[in-house]
Amino acid sequence: MYDIIIIGAGPAGMTAALYALRANKKVLVFEAKSYGGQIVNATKVENYPAIDEISGYDYATNLYNQVKNMGAEFKFETVERVTEDKKVITNNGEYQAKAVIIATGAENRKLNIDNEQEFVGKGISYCATCDGTFYKDKIVAVNGGGNTALEDAIYLSDIANKVYLIHRREEFRGEQKYTDELKSKSNIEFVLNSTIKTINGSDKLESITVEDKDGNTKDIAIDGLFIAIGQEPKNQIFANVATVNDKGYIDAGEDLHTNIEGIYVAGDTRVKNLRQLTTAVSDGSVAATQAIKEMK
Ligand code: NAP
Repeated sequence: MYDIIIIGAGPAGMTAALYALRANKKVLVFEAKSYGGQIVNATKVENYPAIDEISGYDYATNLYNQVKNMGAEFKFETVERVTEDKKVITNNGEYQAKAVIIATGAENRKLNIDNEQEFVGKGISYCATCDGTFYKDKIVAVNGGGNTALEDAIYLSDIANKVYLIHRREEFRGEQKYTDELKSKSNIEFVLNSTIKTINGSDKLESITVEDKDGNTKDIAIDGLFIAIGQEPKNQIFANVATVNDKGYIDAGEDLHTNIEGIYVAGDTRVKNLRQLTTAVSDGSVAATQAIKEMK
């Protein structure tokens, strides 16, 4: 029997573990892949208060070592189901807790075309604020039409020589104020009603082929491609113990408990406006504190 089982060893989950361990609770953390979550992909973290600069990998490793040394148990198993009575079923067994914190994060949506995964770190990125700096005075493209893509294009236009903004429709889903700002930038070119058909290059990205709605294709030579087509949380397995909205995010109030007693949610996987390292660790501390307070 564990006091708290945490699902997901990203910053939110591991911060929840930290707070629970400081309250002397017995903690088990499940992680399907490797610790760290999305932050390990950040080349540099420069927006974490009081830390000038740290790599995402170092940040995650420091946090992992910290909670492990404090006594957290980690199991690298895939959670398949959670029951209302706080039983967690994985691909390897069944575990009982008094409280469960869901901190499974969200994954960047993929284009799912050839070369996409092979060229990650070789011209393809899902995070402009992490990797934009590598494209100083180069030519880049951003794909997407939501706030993330629009903000990324604005951000990159101050670093790169030229930014193509490729979107599958005429209208942007993102806010008008970003569109207005984009239009005022001389080095941004809109490529609308277009989708990326192929990613081309030998051992790194060299160009993309886009197709417009009439079926016309063209090649665009670029050094970097930032894919910003939304996130995909994977929360359907928690639909019996949490309210999962139509986009797959879990809804929770300020105290982060779900509609089931003893079950909480933290980090990018919940409905929120700002998905950042700072807000993930904040959620982890709130969820664990609430779980401890309400523990029977
Ligand atoms: P999003 O709002 O879901 O937008 C995703 C964009 O990608 C859409 O334009 C969509 O096109 C396009 N897209 C989706 N799948 C695609 C595919 N397979 N191929 C090509 N294009 C595809 O995602 P987001 O921009 O990451 O934002 C997520 C949430 O965070 C939103 O609620 C957003 O407002 C919020 N956010 C807020 C801020 C801010 O307030 N400053 C900043 C960033 C994010 P369609 O439009 O055609 O569907």
